[in-house]
Amino acid sequence: MPADSSQNFPFDASVLDQLACPACLGALRLDGARLVCVACGRGYPVVDGIPALIAERAEDPRH
Ligand SMILES: [Zn+2]
Repeated sequence: MPADSSQNFPFDASVLDQLACPACLGALRLDGARLVCVACGRGYPVVDGIPALIAERAEDPRH
């Protein structure tokens, strides 16, 4: 398999523009292999290249 640094992203980062936090509709940014809402700070896992934007699965930083 050829080395390709773009493969470090688990999915196409360009779709971030079309995604929003399901909890507050804030913008999302990539943080490693997950998405983090810039507004409320919740984190969402990316499973098999698909962002799991489910409020119930969010990692609430205020725990
Ligand atoms: Zn949010």
